[in-house]
Amino acid sequence: MTPTRQGSFHLFRLAGIDLYLHWSWFLVAAYQVTSRNGEYTSPVWNAVEYLTLFVIVMMHEFGHALACRQVGGQADLIVLWPLGGVAYVSPPPRPGALLWSIAAGPLVNVLLVPVLSGLIALAKAGGSPDVIECVRAVWFINVFLLVFNLLPIYPLDGGQILRSLLWFVCGRTRSLLVASVLGLVGAVGLLGVAVWSESVWLGILTVFIALGCWRGLRSAQALALVLRLPRHTGFACPVCHAAPPQGPLWQCGKCRQPFDTFITGAVCPHCAEQFPATGCTDCGQLSSSSAWLIAPPKL
Ligand SMILES: [Zn+2]
Ligand SMILES: [Zn+2]
Ligand SMILES: [Zn+2]
Repeated sequence: MTPTRQGSFHLFRLAGIDLYLHWSWFLVAAYQVTSRNGEYTSPVWNAVEYLTLFVIVMMHEFGHALACRQVGGQADLIVLWPLGGVAYVSPPPRPGALLWSIAAGPLVNVLLVPVLSGLIALAKAGGSPDVIECVRAVWFINVFLLVFNLLPIYPLDGGQILRSLLWFVCGRTRSLLVASVLGLVGAVGLLGVAVWSESVWLGILTVFIALGCWRGLRSAQALALVLRLPRHTGFACPVCHAAPPQGPLWQCGKCRQPFDTFITGAVCPHCAEQFPATGCTDCGQLSSSSAWLIAPPKL
């Protein structure tokens, strides 16, 4: 349901991350620029304001993507659309890695607050009323984006931060379950606000939030199924000491095929790629593949 490469324009590639702009962004841009008059002496300033919003959202998404890469995750695609941006990030399944990948987005908005405050002071010192009004509007947009994104409603950034914090306490599966259920409750609240304020924008966004919570519930369910699988004997996670589940639960980083790494000895049976480290399905920690082997009892 979120925008993909299809129907999007490739804008540029930075640090190995491709930035796409969805066609619907132009529709909303045209509407925003032409429908709002009165704040500025010329609609050019409406366009400047909207383009600056675009840059802020883009920087926020690059924050997510670069942080995700920093912790060893995959992130090579950002799509911007009228509801904001989507950075397709998949951090390694560790609570700390998820926390940093998510927190880095809002952190960009936090860092922009003093920068924009400084620009307001500069504009007041020598800019035209249009410049002052525009910088002020951008300041408020940035703070609004920050506060809205930090609402603890999954899958908004705040909800995902809550999820990664819960992960430290109650594990990968239960944290996702709790965050998704709380997210659905939050979505009902947001829907109420959308109806009360007659905001179509918030209504549409709420539908996407509810769909995200639904997907979260489904993957928590899938994770819970893994927990019930039979376990390999002779192996244990060096970190949490759990025996690994049996089944094709590890995905080859090269050919993307699933396989059971404890049957093949950490080698992909499809492309023969060897994996020096193996991820734990229970705690999410990566450990050296050889460290999983339990030494046979000495006689
Ligand atoms: Zn974000
Ligand atoms: Zn473990
Ligand atoms: Zn492979």
